[in-house]
Amino acid sequence: MLIKAPKGTRDILPDEIHRWHYVEDKFSDICSRFGFQEIRIPLFEHTELFQRGVGDTTDIVQKEMYTFNDKGGRSITLRPEGTAGVVRSYIENGMASWPQPVKLFYNITAYRYENVQKGRYREFHQLGVELFGSPEADADVEVISLLYLFLESIGIRELSLNLNSIGCPSCRADYNKTLKAFIEPRLNRLCEDCIDRYQRNPLRILDCKEQGCINELKDVPYLLDYICSDCADHFEKVKEKLYAMGIPFTIDKKIVRGLDYYTRTVFEFVSKNIGSQGTVCGGGRYDGLIESCGGSPTPGIGFALGIERLLLEMDSQGIDVPLPSSPDIFIGVIGYKANLFAENLALKLRSDGITCHKDIMGRSVKAQMKYANKLNARLVVVIGDDEVESGKAELKDMSSGEVRMINIDTLLDRLKKFKQVNS
Ligand code: ATP
Ligand code: MG
Repeated sequence: MLIKAPKGTRDILPDEIHRWHYVEDKFSDICSRFGFQEIRIPLFEHTELFQRGVGDTTDIVQKEMYTFNDKGGRSITLRPEGTAGVVRSYIENGMASWPQPVKLFYNITAYRYENVQKGRYREFHQLGVELFGSPEADADVEVISLLYLFLESIGIRELSLNLNSIGCPSCRADYNKTLKAFIEPRLNRLCEDCIDRYQRNPLRILDCKEQGCINELKDVPYLLDYICSDCADHFEKVKEKLYAMGIPFTIDKKIVRGLDYYTRTVFEFVSKNIGSQGTVCGGGRYDGLIESCGGSPTPGIGFALGIERLLLEMDSQGIDVPLPSSPDIFIGVIGYKANLFAENLALKLRSDGITCHKDIMGRSVKAQMKYANKLNARLVVVIGDDEVESGKAELKDMSSGEVRMINIDTLLDRLKKFKQVNS
């Protein structure tokens, strides 16, 4: 029986990998410019970390986690996102004693048991940042402007930055009463999940994707209209600063984010092009999270961006990614002795930074040339016994068709010059 990749996973093949590298390299470059350093965290953690760090009432923890017992009987979960693991690492590695703020970025795979569709997979990739230690609006602005600059640097247009504040636990407690009073008479018309959310965490009802619930909640009072004056001041500052920096945004009172740990600023970058999976990136402030994971109270803010969705967005905007460069040279060979010579030559060129292919299939010269064409090699040289003997060979420029007799000794220098001129 043919074994296929599990549903919701996909291979990233060589012909698309340059698009991934492009996005990943740009991201780490922009993060470095902002003084963020890369962190790598484990692919799996103790299940309890996500129960606490993502939140028991979230869709992720209730329905989407890949959880299993390992051979030692511990409950283990494949990371459904990055923040909880980074927070665990912050606490475990005593980063509170590092110079503050601590600014980290990551590039991870994540795992969620989802209904698979375009832009929604079971294994997917996230780029993200976490900034710990600053409660100031400046931190919110630094993180949002990093994201903005990154998206701009890869040529994204028409993405809208939607912003909201969901206040702090004390403003939320008051609002929850108002929200429950609004929902109660409508409760029997909501979906089963929302009925459960009504008991456990009513705010989550605002994030329901069911059309019936969305209709019922048309006139729901919004949290933003109920936040306390400290939270309102903080939000004003964030808006003022973004405005002053020329970063456009829209207030979207509906954003509550899927995760429990957010406080104050929450934001999403949403595409108009890629339909219901249009949220390319989501983030926000999580001032209560570190404490709820066992650390001392520490403010934090971050975002996570889905690479697959970003690539879909780039496609739909027709954004070109530079193609990988063609091989510098293909070395064709005729005969055993020449082959040995060519192997040495190829090794020397490669050790000096030249991208070099040589025949390793024992093909005829004609077939080797056909292959060199397919590879799109820029130059071709064929080495046979005569060439080994005389130290001279014909070097062919595949784009101009020009052929030159050269000393093989000079090949490296010529290739270096050729690269300089043609790069
Ligand atoms: P959605 O509302 O689309 O389910 P989410 O709120 O669950 O998104 P987050 O947990 O905020 O998403 O994750 C951050 C980003 O990761 C999303 O904006 C999206 O780009 C990406 N993402 C989340 N889940 C998936 C998935 N199953 N497949 C691909 N990308 C995903
Ligand atoms: Mg989701």
